[in-house]
Amino acid sequence: MADEVAKAQTASAGGDTIFGKILRKEIPCNYIYEDDKCVAFHDINPQAPTHFLVIPRKPIAQLSLAEESDEQLLGHLMIVARKVAKDVGLSQGFRLVINDGADGCQSVYHLHLHVLGGRQLGWPPG
Ligand code: 5GP
Repeated sequence: MADEVAKAQTASAGGDTIFGKILRKEIPCNYIYEDDKCVAFHDINPQAPTHFLVIPRKPIAQLSLAEESDEQLLGHLMIVARKVAKDVGLSQGFRLVINDGADGCQSVYHLHLHVLGGRQLGWPPG
């Protein structure tokens, strides 16, 4: 079993996360983008030549727990994803991924968009 799948099977929602610590700057992290609603930073374990995460400052544990009132914020995260993708040179395209829950292989329970690019990606995903 891949490491990421094993992590996802033991992770669960609730409480503080590593991304909470990154947002509070308790863990050093170089943001590649930040505004009052979200931040973006490179994934520590990249799955493509470019792999960054966009996370809201609001601690939404996972997409399936987002509320109707989060609609604007969720749209904002996608707009930021495409802006940062352009800034880091993903001119040939990229992929957005949101893993949700155990079956979705989510390991950190703070909503995040994965943005992957810089190589030809395959389909379907595993
Ligand atoms: P998930 O499996 O929940 O969809 O994705 C979590 C992602 O967070 C993984 O790709 C993992 O590599 C990344 N990650 C976990 N801890 C850290 C960290 O401390 N710093 C950064 N930059 N990425 C992290």
